Amino acid sequence: MNNTKKIKKFFQIFGVAFLIGCIIASVLYAQGRLKGKNSNKNEKEVKTEINTTEKNSSEAKKAKATSDKEANDQTASNKVTSDKTASDKEASDKTISDQVASNGKIVCIDPGHQTKANSSKEPIGPGASTTKAKVTGGTTGKFTGCTEYELNLEVSLKLRDELKKRGYTVYMTRETNDVDISNKERADYAASVKADIFIRIHANGADSSATNGALALAPSQNNPYVARLSNESQRLSKNMVDAYCNETGIKNLGVVGSNDMSGINWSIMPVTIFEMGFMSNQSDDTKMADPAFQDKMAQGMANGIDVYFGR
Ligand SMILES: [Zn+2]
Repeated sequence: MNNTKKIKKFFQIFGVAFLIGCIIASVLYAQGRLKGKNSNKNEKEVKTEINTTEKNSSEAKKAKATSDKEANDQTASNKVTSDKTASDKEASDKTISDQVASNGKIVCIDPGHQTKANSSKEPIGPGASTTKAKVTGGTTGKFTGCTEYELNLEVSLKLRDELKKRGYTVYMTRETNDVDISNKERADYAASVKADIFIRIHANGADSSATNGALALAPSQNNPYVARLSNESQRLSKNMVDAYCNETGIKNLGVVGSNDMSGINWSIMPVTIFEMGFMSNQSDDTKMADPAFQDKMAQGMANGIDVYFGR
Protein backbone atom coordinates (compact mmCIF):
# COMPACT_ATOMS: atom_id res chain seq x y z
CA MET A 1 0.00 0.00 0.00
CA ASN A 2 1.48 3.32 -0.98
CA ASN A 3 1.01 6.60 0.89
CA THR A 4 -1.80 7.87 -1.30
CA LYS A 5 -3.81 4.69 -0.74
CA LYS A 6 -3.10 4.89 3.04
CA ILE A 7 -4.49 8.48 3.15
CA LYS A 8 -7.54 7.46 1.09
CA LYS A 9 -8.22 4.49 3.44
CA PHE A 10 -7.84 6.77 6.52
CA PHE A 11 -10.44 9.22 5.21
CA GLN A 12 -12.80 6.36 4.28
CA ILE A 13 -12.65 4.95 7.86
CA PHE A 14 -12.85 8.45 9.40
CA GLY A 15 -15.87 9.31 7.21
CA VAL A 16 -17.80 6.17 8.19
CA ALA A 17 -16.96 6.72 11.90
CA PHE A 18 -18.08 10.38 11.61
CA LEU A 19 -21.35 9.34 10.00
CA ILE A 20 -22.03 6.70 12.69
CA GLY A 21 -21.16 9.31 15.34
CA CYS A 22 -23.62 11.79 13.83
CA ILE A 23 -26.39 9.17 13.72
CA ILE A 24 -25.79 8.17 17.36
CA ALA A 25 -25.68 11.84 18.43
CA SER A 26 -28.92 12.70 16.65
CA VAL A 27 -30.69 9.61 18.09
CA LEU A 28 -29.52 10.55 21.59
CA TYR A 29 -30.60 14.15 21.04
CA ALA A 30 -34.04 13.07 19.83
CA GLN A 31 -34.48 10.75 22.84
CA GLY A 32 -33.48 13.54 25.17
CA ARG A 33 -36.04 15.94 23.74
CA LEU A 34 -38.76 13.33 23.87
CA LYS A 35 -37.95 12.57 27.51
CA GLY A 36 -38.12 16.26 28.30
CA LYS A 37 -41.52 16.60 26.64
CA ASN A 38 -42.86 13.55 28.46
CA SER A 39 -41.75 14.80 31.81
CA ASN A 40 -43.51 18.12 31.10
CA LYS A 41 -46.56 16.23 30.07
CA ASN A 42 -46.43 14.12 33.24
CA GLU A 43 -46.19 17.26 35.33
CA LYS A 44 -49.28 18.62 33.58
CA GLU A 45 -51.12 15.37 34.18
CA VAL A 46 -50.23 15.40 37.87
CA LYS A 47 -51.46 19.00 38.15
CA THR A 48 -54.71 18.11 36.40
CA GLU A 49 -55.14 15.16 38.71
CA ILE A 50 -54.60 17.36 41.75
CA ASN A 51 -57.16 19.84 40.45
CA THR A 52 -59.61 17.04 39.74
CA THR A 53 -59.05 15.61 43.21
CA GLU A 54 -59.65 19.03 44.74
CA LYS A 55 -62.75 19.48 42.59
CA ASN A 56 -63.98 16.01 43.52
CA SER A 57 -63.43 16.59 47.19
CA SER A 58 -65.31 19.90 47.01
CA GLU A 59 -68.07 18.18 45.07
CA ALA A 60 -68.08 15.42 47.65
CA LYS A 61 -68.46 18.05 50.37
CA LYS A 62 -71.33 19.65 48.45
CA ALA A 63 -72.95 16.25 47.91
CA LYS A 64 -72.59 15.43 51.58
CA ALA A 65 -74.14 18.77 52.54
CA THR A 66 -77.05 18.09 50.17
CA SER A 67 -77.55 14.55 51.44
CA ASP A 68 -77.38 15.80 55.05
CA LYS A 69 -80.03 18.38 54.17
CA GLU A 70 -82.16 15.75 52.52
CA ALA A 71 -81.79 13.52 55.54
CA ASN A 72 -82.89 16.40 57.77
CA ASP A 73 -85.82 17.17 55.48
CA GLN A 74 -86.72 13.49 55.51
CA THR A 75 -86.57 13.46 59.31
CA ALA A 76 -88.81 16.51 59.41
CA SER A 77 -91.31 15.00 57.01
CA ASN A 78 -91.25 11.73 58.98
CA LYS A 79 -92.17 13.71 62.07
CA VAL A 80 -95.12 15.16 60.19
CA THR A 81 -96.32 11.66 59.33
CA SER A 82 -97.59 10.52 62.69
CA ASP A 83 -98.43 7.00 61.53
CA LYS A 84 -95.11 5.48 60.45
CA THR A 85 -96.62 2.05 59.81
CA ALA A 86 -99.05 3.59 57.35
CA SER A 87 -96.23 5.31 55.45
CA ASP A 88 -94.25 2.03 55.35
CA LYS A 89 -97.31 0.29 53.92
CA GLU A 90 -97.67 3.04 51.35
CA ALA A 91 -94.05 2.58 50.33
CA SER A 92 -94.54 -1.16 49.82
CA ASP A 93 -97.81 -0.56 47.95
CA LYS A 94 -95.94 1.86 45.68
CA THR A 95 -93.35 -0.82 44.93
CA ILE A 96 -96.10 -3.29 44.04
CA SER A 97 -97.97 -0.80 41.86
CA ASP A 98 -94.75 0.19 40.05
CA GLN A 99 -94.56 -3.40 38.79
CA VAL A 100 -98.12 -3.32 37.40
CA ALA A 101 -98.47 -2.73 33.66
CA SER A 102 -100.19 0.56 32.81
CA ASN A 103 -103.78 0.32 31.55
CA GLY A 104 -103.32 3.67 29.76
CA LYS A 105 -105.92 5.58 31.81
CA ILE A 106 -105.11 8.71 33.84
CA VAL A 107 -107.10 9.56 36.98
CA CYS A 108 -106.77 12.79 38.92
CA ILE A 109 -107.98 12.59 42.54
CA ASP A 110 -108.81 15.74 44.48
CA PRO A 111 -109.12 15.22 48.25
CA GLY A 112 -111.60 17.99 49.08
CA HIS A 113 -110.72 20.99 51.29
CA GLN A 114 -107.52 21.64 53.28
CA THR A 115 -106.43 22.59 56.82
CA LYS A 116 -107.33 26.27 56.44
CA ALA A 117 -110.14 27.61 54.27
CA ASN A 118 -109.34 30.40 51.79
CA SER A 119 -112.25 32.86 51.68
CA SER A 120 -110.86 34.92 48.76
CA LYS A 121 -113.26 34.72 45.83
CA GLU A 122 -112.98 33.21 42.37
CA PRO A 123 -115.56 32.94 39.53
CA ILE A 124 -117.61 29.72 39.75
CA GLY A 125 -116.94 28.91 36.08
CA PRO A 126 -115.41 30.24 32.85
CA GLY A 127 -116.89 33.71 32.17
CA ALA A 128 -119.04 33.62 35.33
CA SER A 129 -119.91 36.86 37.15
CA THR A 130 -120.89 34.84 40.25
CA THR A 131 -117.99 34.20 42.62
CA LYS A 132 -117.45 31.81 45.53
CA ALA A 133 -114.78 31.22 48.21
CA LYS A 134 -111.65 29.67 46.70
CA VAL A 135 -111.89 26.73 49.10
CA THR A 136 -114.08 26.16 52.15
CA GLY A 137 -113.23 24.42 55.42
CA GLY A 138 -115.50 21.40 55.00
CA THR A 139 -117.47 19.65 57.71
CA THR A 140 -116.49 17.74 60.89
CA GLY A 141 -117.61 14.35 62.23
CA LYS A 142 -120.35 14.98 64.83
CA PHE A 143 -119.57 11.71 66.57
CA THR A 144 -115.89 11.01 65.76
CA GLY A 145 -114.61 14.60 65.74
CA CYS A 146 -112.64 13.78 62.55
CA THR A 147 -112.26 16.69 60.15
CA GLU A 148 -113.54 16.25 56.60
CA TYR A 149 -110.26 17.37 54.98
CA GLU A 150 -108.35 14.67 56.90
CA LEU A 151 -110.90 11.95 56.10
CA ASN A 152 -110.95 12.98 52.42
CA LEU A 153 -107.15 12.68 52.22
CA GLU A 154 -107.00 9.32 54.07
CA VAL A 155 -109.51 7.70 51.73
CA SER A 156 -108.06 9.41 48.64
CA LEU A 157 -104.60 7.96 49.38
CA LYS A 158 -106.16 4.50 49.67
CA LEU A 159 -108.03 5.03 46.40
CA ARG A 160 -104.76 6.19 44.76
CA ASP A 161 -102.96 3.00 45.85
CA GLU A 162 -105.86 0.76 44.79
CA LEU A 163 -106.06 2.39 41.34
CA LYS A 164 -102.28 2.11 40.86
CA LYS A 165 -102.51 -1.60 41.64
CA ARG A 166 -105.08 -1.85 38.85
CA GLY A 167 -102.74 -0.16 36.34
CA TYR A 168 -104.09 3.41 36.43
CA THR A 169 -101.78 6.41 36.34
CA VAL A 170 -102.88 8.55 39.30
CA TYR A 171 -102.26 12.21 40.07
CA MET A 172 -103.27 13.89 43.35
CA THR A 173 -104.08 17.59 43.72
CA ARG A 174 -102.71 17.27 47.26
CA GLU A 175 -101.04 14.60 49.43
CA THR A 176 -100.85 16.68 52.62
CA ASN A 177 -103.43 18.77 54.48
CA ASP A 178 -101.40 21.95 54.84
CA VAL A 179 -101.88 23.34 51.32
CA ASP A 180 -103.66 26.30 49.73
CA ILE A 181 -105.24 25.26 46.42
CA SER A 182 -108.48 26.80 45.16
CA ASN A 183 -111.21 24.70 43.54
CA LYS A 184 -110.44 26.24 40.13
CA GLU A 185 -106.73 25.51 40.58
CA ARG A 186 -107.58 21.88 41.39
CA ALA A 187 -109.53 21.57 38.13
CA ASP A 188 -106.68 23.29 36.26
CA TYR A 189 -104.25 20.75 37.73
CA ALA A 190 -106.38 17.84 36.46
CA ALA A 191 -106.24 19.44 32.99
CA SER A 192 -102.47 19.96 33.22
CA VAL A 193 -101.85 16.24 33.87
CA LYS A 194 -104.21 15.35 30.97
CA ALA A 195 -106.45 13.27 33.26
CA ASP A 196 -109.22 11.19 31.64
CA ILE A 197 -111.44 11.68 34.70
CA PHE A 198 -111.44 14.03 37.70
CA ILE A 199 -112.56 12.47 41.01
CA ARG A 200 -113.27 14.93 43.84
CA ILE A 201 -113.54 13.19 47.22
CA HIS A 202 -115.82 14.73 49.87
CA ALA A 203 -117.99 13.83 52.86
CA ASN A 204 -121.36 15.36 53.57
CA GLY A 205 -123.00 17.15 56.49
CA ALA A 206 -126.67 17.85 57.23
CA ASP A 207 -128.65 19.57 59.95
CA SER A 208 -130.52 16.37 60.68
CA SER A 209 -128.40 13.55 62.09
CA ALA A 210 -130.93 11.12 60.56
CA THR A 211 -129.77 11.91 57.01
CA ASN A 212 -127.33 9.29 55.76
CA GLY A 213 -125.96 7.79 52.55
CA ALA A 214 -123.58 8.42 49.65
CA LEU A 215 -124.23 10.50 46.52
CA ALA A 216 -122.27 11.82 43.57
CA LEU A 217 -122.57 15.29 42.04
CA ALA A 218 -122.18 15.76 38.27
CA PRO A 219 -122.84 18.71 35.93
CA SER A 220 -126.54 18.86 35.05
CA GLN A 221 -127.81 18.81 31.43
CA ASN A 222 -128.35 22.60 31.58
CA ASN A 223 -125.10 23.50 33.34
CA PRO A 224 -124.07 26.90 31.82
CA TYR A 225 -120.34 26.01 31.73
CA VAL A 226 -119.87 22.27 31.19
CA ALA A 227 -123.16 20.85 29.88
CA ARG A 228 -121.02 19.06 27.27
CA LEU A 229 -119.52 16.95 30.10
CA SER A 230 -122.89 16.12 31.64
CA ASN A 231 -123.59 12.68 30.12
CA GLU A 232 -120.15 11.21 30.75
CA SER A 233 -119.89 12.78 34.21
CA GLN A 234 -123.31 11.40 35.19
CA ARG A 235 -122.33 7.95 33.92
CA LEU A 236 -119.06 8.11 35.91
CA SER A 237 -120.94 9.29 39.02
CA LYS A 238 -123.55 6.53 38.75
CA ASN A 239 -120.96 3.79 38.18
CA MET A 240 -119.03 4.97 41.22
CA VAL A 241 -121.91 5.45 43.67
CA ASP A 242 -123.49 2.09 42.69
CA ALA A 243 -120.24 0.12 43.10
CA TYR A 244 -119.34 1.99 46.30
CA CYS A 245 -122.68 1.36 48.00
CA ASN A 246 -122.60 -2.26 46.85
CA GLU A 247 -119.18 -2.76 48.45
CA THR A 248 -119.74 -0.79 51.69
CA GLY A 249 -123.46 -1.24 52.35
CA ILE A 250 -123.84 2.56 52.70
CA LYS A 251 -127.24 3.84 51.51
CA ASN A 252 -127.31 4.84 47.82
CA LEU A 253 -128.65 8.37 47.27
CA GLY A 254 -127.74 8.30 43.57
CA VAL A 255 -126.53 11.08 41.26
CA VAL A 256 -127.38 14.76 41.78
CA GLY A 257 -127.06 17.40 39.02
CA SER A 258 -125.00 20.49 39.86
CA ASN A 259 -124.53 23.95 38.30
CA ASP A 260 -122.70 25.92 41.00
CA MET A 261 -119.62 23.91 42.00
CA SER A 262 -116.43 25.72 40.86
CA GLY A 263 -114.34 22.54 40.75
CA ILE A 264 -116.92 20.94 38.43
CA ASN A 265 -117.52 24.01 36.26
CA TRP A 266 -113.81 24.62 35.60
CA SER A 267 -113.21 20.97 34.68
CA ILE A 268 -112.49 20.00 31.06
CA MET A 269 -112.94 16.22 31.51
CA PRO A 270 -115.71 14.04 33.04
CA VAL A 271 -115.90 14.98 36.71
CA THR A 272 -117.66 13.90 39.89
CA ILE A 273 -117.87 15.19 43.45
CA PHE A 274 -118.15 11.98 45.41
CA GLU A 275 -119.87 12.47 48.78
CA MET A 276 -118.88 9.29 50.64
CA GLY A 277 -121.40 9.60 53.49
CA PHE A 278 -122.76 11.98 56.14
CA MET A 279 -120.39 12.96 58.94
CA SER A 280 -123.49 14.26 60.73
CA ASN A 281 -124.91 10.72 60.90
CA GLN A 282 -123.62 8.40 63.61
CA SER A 283 -123.50 5.24 61.51
CA ASP A 284 -121.82 6.84 58.44
CA ASP A 285 -119.44 8.92 60.56
CA THR A 286 -118.26 5.99 62.68
CA LYS A 287 -117.83 3.62 59.74
CA MET A 288 -115.91 6.16 57.62
CA ALA A 289 -113.40 6.77 60.44
CA ASP A 290 -112.47 3.06 60.56
CA PRO A 291 -109.32 2.27 58.51
CA ALA A 292 -110.54 -1.25 57.60
CA PHE A 293 -113.84 0.21 56.37
CA GLN A 294 -111.90 2.85 54.41
CA ASP A 295 -110.21 0.01 52.50
CA LYS A 296 -113.67 -1.13 51.39
CA MET A 297 -114.63 2.43 50.45
CA ALA A 298 -111.55 2.67 48.21
CA GLN A 299 -112.25 -0.76 46.70
CA GLY A 300 -115.84 0.23 45.93
CA MET A 301 -114.86 3.50 44.24
CA ALA A 302 -112.14 1.74 42.22
CA ASN A 303 -114.68 -0.90 41.13
CA GLY A 304 -116.94 1.89 39.84
CA ILE A 305 -114.05 3.49 37.93
CA ASP A 306 -113.29 0.08 36.35
CA VAL A 307 -116.94 -0.16 35.25
CA TYR A 308 -116.77 3.36 33.77
CA PHE A 309 -113.77 2.40 31.63
CA GLY A 310 -115.40 -0.93 30.67
CA ARG A 311 -112.80 -2.98 32.52
ZN1 LIG B 1 -116.64 18.77 51.24
